[in-house]
Amino acid sequence: MAPSTNQPTRSSWQRAALNGLKCRCANCGRGKLYARYLEPVEHCDVCGEAYGDRYQVGLLLPFIVVTVLGHILVFALLEAARLRINPLLSLAIFIPTVLVVSLLLLPPVKGALIGILWFSQLSDEQR
Ligand SMILES: [Zn+2]
Repeated sequence: MAPSTNQPTRSSWQRAALNGLKCRCANCGRGKLYARYLEPVEHCDVCGEAYGDRYQVGLLLPFIVVTVLGHILVFALLEAARLRINPLLSLAIFIPTVLVVSLLLLPPVKGALIGILWFSQLSDEQR
């Protein structure tokens, strides 16, 4: 579909963040946000909003993922210790789980950050 020339409305940062959390365009919520894993599309297929390298989330992305995952992991490790699960078994379970969950969390968290940056009009071109 050809991109339209409609100007983005930027009605609320929550809607933009939620669209990004769903890995969808922050503007319309229908087009894909990523061309590949963590690589934003150049333009939304539906509304034509430009992404590419315009919105850089930097180290905030791993900070948020590690913070969220750290809280969950501490609780899980304390529960494993309380239930007296073998520490080696705990490591065998938690290490792959942490790797998989962190890889799964990165795209939606980055999408939400892109949505917030998009709403705030904080692209790298405007700094
Ligand atoms: Zn769009």
